[in-house]
Amino acid sequence: MKLVLRGHHLLCLKGFQGYGYNDDFVENMKFINSKRKDNTTTISLTNSADDICSSCPNLKNNLCENEIQNNNINKMDKEVLKKIDSKKEYNSVELFNKIDQIFNTKESVSKICFNCKWHEKCLFYQKLSNNR
Ligand code: SF4
Repeated sequence: MKLVLRGHHLLCLKGFQGYGYNDDFVENMKFINSKRKDNTTTISLTNSADDICSSCPNLKNNLCENEIQNNNINKMDKEVLKKIDSKKEYNSVELFNKIDQIFNTKESVSKICFNCKWHEKCLFYQKLSNNR
């Protein structure tokens, strides 16, 4: 399977533990989270609406909520994408291993996760927090 994911969603998937905006969103997140663990899945990267946003009630006219919020989200994507070549297509398992190596301290994700309203429920962020 081929997935298209925006930069910051690589971190969100690692922290997902079943919370989301509504039932459709959560079901889609569960599906994508299982597929990203499959060694035959490939991933292309983006800094715009992706395969997670497509089931999100916040997506309006292909923007996350509105232009201001969309710009904030873009900044989070770019913080991730500046560390990874976004023109390549990746084997999913290898890409997530790479994410673990790059984003391995609380400081390394501070510009991405600090203002996220989910960070208290995010296993990825909590694990980094507990390591510091
Ligand atoms: S539309 Fe916004 S809130 Fe919804 S999944 Fe995409 S980035 Fe997240």
